[in-house]
Amino acid sequence: MQGDIKGRGHEDTSRVHCDVHVADTDEERITEEKWQAILHNDASYDAAFIYAVKTTGIFCRPSCKSRTPKKENVRLFQNAQQALSANFRPCKRCKPTGERLPDNEWVAQITRYIDTNYSETLTLETLADMCHGSPYHLHRTFKRIKGVTPIEYIQQTRIARAIEYLINSDKAVASIALAVGMSNTPYFITVFKKKTGRTPAAYRQLNRAKHTMEVLHSGSKN
Ligand SMILES: [Zn+2]
Repeated sequence: MQGDIKGRGHEDTSRVHCDVHVADTDEERITEEKWQAILHNDASYDAAFIYAVKTTGIFCRPSCKSRTPKKENVRLFQNAQQALSANFRPCKRCKPTGERLPDNEWVAQITRYIDTNYSETLTLETLADMCHGSPYHLHRTFKRIKGVTPIEYIQQTRIARAIEYLINSDKAVASIALAVGMSNTPYFITVFKKKTGRTPAAYRQLNRAKHTMEVLHSGSKN
């Protein structure tokens, strides 16, 4: 019976026309068949194509168990080489280049992700999701290579940015907390104090005082 076969082959031509203008030279159109392969992690398509996700910059085999991307963010390629030359990176989990991504490169990816997204809500799970690995494996590998856990690294990054704000801006402590991804101000103050030995307000005051001294000092020389 044909009734339950959805969206296959030539019957889908109406949608095909809309996609023509976005096609890159070596980019493949996402047919319903290929989309279904991605949705169902169908390993029988692994040799046929690979898919990249624009929002994460990572490419996967169809069989990859990572979270299913939004269709509009997907780009198809015939092979890993094409995806690499389009500046996508291989997924850690399904290893579409056939070899393991070295751990240090993976950790560099994770680090970059934290460095650019520290102002968002970041958990081990979101990191694992975005950087394609299990939370446990990500935690262990990151710690082994960086010497700190991902969560510690996120905190360090946030505190470092907060220090810049305290010194170089007049932002209130609460809005600095928010700007570095910590919407809970008392918690931010606690973490800040634990890392620097001072509250954000005291840190700012001390720094301003020091700066004033330096200005006065260098002024007296002239
Ligand atoms: Zn993958």
